[in-house]
Amino acid sequence: MGRKPRLTVLGKQGAGKGTQAARLAAHYDIAHISTGDMFRAQAAQGTAFGLEAKRFMDAGELVPDEIVIGVIEECTVPGGPLGGGFVLDGFPRTLNQARELDRVLAGAPLDLAIDLEVPTEIVLDRIAGRRVCENCQRVYHVNLPPTHDWTCDTCGGPVRQRADDTEEAVMRRLELYETETRPILDYYRAHDLLVTVDGVGEGDDVFERLVKVVDEHAAA
Ligand code: ADP
Repeated sequence: MGRKPRLTVLGKQGAGKGTQAARLAAHYDIAHISTGDMFRAQAAQGTAFGLEAKRFMDAGELVPDEIVIGVIEECTVPGGPLGGGFVLDGFPRTLNQARELDRVLAGAPLDLAIDLEVPTEIVLDRIAGRRVCENCQRVYHVNLPPTHDWTCDTCGGPVRQRADDTEEAVMRRLELYETETRPILDYYRAHDLLVTVDGVGEGDDVFERLVKVVDEHAAA
């Protein structure tokens, strides 16, 4: 394979972006950049920035664009994760963020925007059962827990329900997905960058579908 792929994975909350982006990152040896994970890590450390982001996250609101874009811009420093191959997870989430991403990527643009498509009734079920490692963010489900007593199989961290996976916050996030994030699909379609991948089914099957489209479109 030649140049490393430069990807973003779009999709509703619970579509499997985080799980699949981590697998894509390992498969292609590229950086996994999750804005949600970055904010949660900062919040866990109790930094002023993290605590501010947490207020928005726990309410199911979007973190304001200028904060998110600032975080992404930091990833473009020389040697930073946006310099080589990468998979963005949870960014962009507004049309403004998509435009800003094009600006910060200037000379080395995205190869592909992948819409991981899952019907709302299925994501609601997934999120209700979702449990996440507070340390490394690995995602589990009540039906597919870690081997030992809710400690993470990867790092031994505590596996818990996310503070923003309450029914109220989830409904708000899905509403914001429709109004703020869905318009991005048209933006990428117009730039001939959009592919849709069916996100329903076994994780391994979804991953195979993803690798197929990336190999076809982005990893020439
Ligand atoms: P989910 O996709 O289930 O909402 P994430 O971990 O991707 O989970 O995001 C969690 C929260 O972090 C969001 O609800 C939002 O508050 C904040 N966030 C993450 N990425 C962005 C972004 N690009 N723009 C604004 N807010 C964001």
